[in-house]
Amino acid sequence: MALSDYVNTFGQAMLQRYGERVHKLALHAGFTCPNRDGSKGHGGCTFCNNASFNPAGRRPAVIAAQLADGRRVIGGLSKARLFLAYFQAYTNTYAAREVLAALYDQALAEPDVIGLAVGTRPDCVPDTVLDLLADYRRGGLEVWLELGLQSACDETLARVRRGHGLAEYRQAVRAARARGIPVCTHLIAGLPGETAAHCRRSLDIVLELGVDGLKLHPLHVVRGTQLAREWRRGDYRPLALDEYVDIAADLVQRTPAQVVFHRLTGTAPAPLLLAPDWCVGKWRVLNGIERELQRRGRGQLVPPAMMKEEAQRAI
Ligand code: SF4
Repeated sequence: MALSDYVNTFGQAMLQRYGERVHKLALHAGFTCPNRDGSKGHGGCTFCNNASFNPAGRRPAVIAAQLADGRRVIGGLSKARLFLAYFQAYTNTYAAREVLAALYDQALAEPDVIGLAVGTRPDCVPDTVLDLLADYRRGGLEVWLELGLQSACDETLARVRRGHGLAEYRQAVRAARARGIPVCTHLIAGLPGETAAHCRRSLDIVLELGVDGLKLHPLHVVRGTQLAREWRRGDYRPLALDEYVDIAADLVQRTPAQVVFHRLTGTAPAPLLLAPDWCVGKWRVLNGIERELQRRGRGQLVPPAMMKEEAQRAI
């Protein structure tokens, strides 16, 4: 068995849609974030050190050069020939429509880039930006809006100084999906003050509002953050591997089969990561989740209609 026997993974979903592997190439397009530049807050979320999105610590280079770097590494490892330009670092919709279009178009000018994944905050997706993404999608491109929610609990969001609440997410997801833009929501397990029950509740709210993809990772403590100070003082305890595996398996099992998991774990570059140390072993975590789902005997929820079809095929 493989993880994809239990989970609708992004890799498998793209393979089915395009008949070959499609990988995301992460980009740093030089944006900042309203939670850092003072418009929403200073200092950012308590866990954020954006150097973890840009491990080489380099200044943003030309988009084509970054894509060439990513293509060399990811394409070399995976043999993928098609890519999505993943605007990842900071808030990738935090500029005027014309500025965004110019950046996105630079990436889309590459013949092997078949679409965009745009990471942003729920309070930073005005109609003008959504209309732009909808135009790309209407033009036949693969487009994903990746919304960082992290938790649906407003108390937690305030505690980690996100600078937005669930209400902004609700509004953003409705506006995006009304335009036919697929939304991938980012959730974090192990946020300060949260338990597995908070994670399940966050997921349930996200599913109820409607979502097309999910990204899940354990909260990790990185250098240079408020969270690192809390951890050093003993005020924050990261999840243990078995706790994370348990939560991830719970969330997978609550999620309908048509929702695509873009990621089931994550980490930070070794020089920045303080804790938990287990999250550097991506495959150890993914294998743990697969084994747990195997032990439980079921992965994502199969909708009743699909179950009926399968039962009829078996007759
Ligand atoms: S919204 Fe994102 S980029 Fe901005 S401070 Fe928080 S985690 Fe960092």
